[in-house]
Amino acid sequence: MQNIWRQQFPLINQSTDLVYFDSAATTQKPQIVLETLQHFYQAQNVNVHRGSYPLAVSTTTEFESARKTMAKFINAPDERCIVFTKGTTDAINLVATCLARQSSINGKNIVVTELEHHANFVPWQQLAKQHQCELRVTPLNDVGVLDLSGLQQIIDHNTLIVAMGHVSNALGNINPVKKVIAEAKNVGALSLVDGAQAVGHFRVDVTELDCDFYTFSAHKMFGPTGIGVLYGKFHLLESLPPYQLGGEMIEHVSLEDTSFELPPLKFEAGTPNIEGVLGMAKAAQWLSHELTDSFQQYEQHLYHYLLDKFSVIEGIKVWGDLHSSVPILSFSIKDVSAQDVALILGEQGIAVRVGHHCAMPLMQRLGISGTIRVSLAIYNTIQEIDQLILALQSAIQLLKKDVNSGVVSKSQL
Ligand code: PMP
Repeated sequence: MQNIWRQQFPLINQSTDLVYFDSAATTQKPQIVLETLQHFYQAQNVNVHRGSYPLAVSTTTEFESARKTMAKFINAPDERCIVFTKGTTDAINLVATCLARQSSINGKNIVVTELEHHANFVPWQQLAKQHQCELRVTPLNDVGVLDLSGLQQIIDHNTLIVAMGHVSNALGNINPVKKVIAEAKNVGALSLVDGAQAVGHFRVDVTELDCDFYTFSAHKMFGPTGIGVLYGKFHLLESLPPYQLGGEMIEHVSLEDTSFELPPLKFEAGTPNIEGVLGMAKAAQWLSHELTDSFQQYEQHLYHYLLDKFSVIEGIKVWGDLHSSVPILSFSIKDVSAQDVALILGEQGIAVRVGHHCAMPLMQRLGISGTIRVSLAIYNTIQEIDQLILALQSAIQLLKKDVNSGVVSKSQL
């Protein structure tokens, strides 16, 4: 299968010595997004929602039209449901903080999974501690797949919110979020989906999912860093108190009191990340156009090729749900230090990630300290995978020889 996307990514396309397999950390950006960012500072650079002169009006119009683009991108009912945030972490913290400010949550329970990125775990864990809530954790099986058999006992009429990842950043699993959202709805609980690793790989439809909140970051879907989206059902956003206070989010201020804007502006205090919003909208438009069957077939082709190659390397254990996964592959190698493997690959320009991937509870459950993660994106090629396999095989050989001859681990040097 031919790669028709790679040439649009300058950093990848021009580099002869970088094999980038760390797209789950952040994706590379297509030329069209880079041009949007540059164009903003060259031709549009004014603040939004303030000035009445033509450039301020046109930039504000484009900024608000980006909100419409983002609503369309996830099939939200309208742009009032789209709050611009710094990213997924910021969006989840917003919801957690504002829910606790809205009314007393003492004695409620909060449901998460053992698979979560810390961004969708720590805010809920700490909220539970601060407000005497019970944190309930949906368990995993031994390879890291969610076990939903006890879900009906975990979620009950006292559940405040069920928060779960759409796709695991550490393993790649696509989780059955629709089923969990429906269970939450059955008992009147709220639902929040962390979509950081989903939106760059498949189309997300929040109306069809019927979740209450959906969060994602632009930099994992070919857009810029420091910008993302909190989608919320409008009536829920309306019922939440503000997150931060200041300019942009007020309706009227007197010495005695302040009234606030309606959502989404109510949650967007201060000057926004204007170029980030425009860059994110451009990435969403680009992705909406590119995300065809052939895009997904190509990604799955790469993923299965990698899996096949791994199946013949002795001592490799691949974690996660291999039947329902985005092209992220997480593995351990028997008797070989993951850190050393990553160092050797890195010396050859092959970028993989090693560690707990901000999912320490998951690693504790699997009984390991971390994995090596190869995360692919649409710009990768079969040749790059072949290069990885060769480099990996010789790294394993070298490290096993070192172990047998008593040489200390490279990461201990
Ligand atoms: N959730 C998941 C599943 C992620 O992969 C990430 C980023 N690694 C986050 C949340 C946090 O995203 P950000 O750092 O952009 O806020």
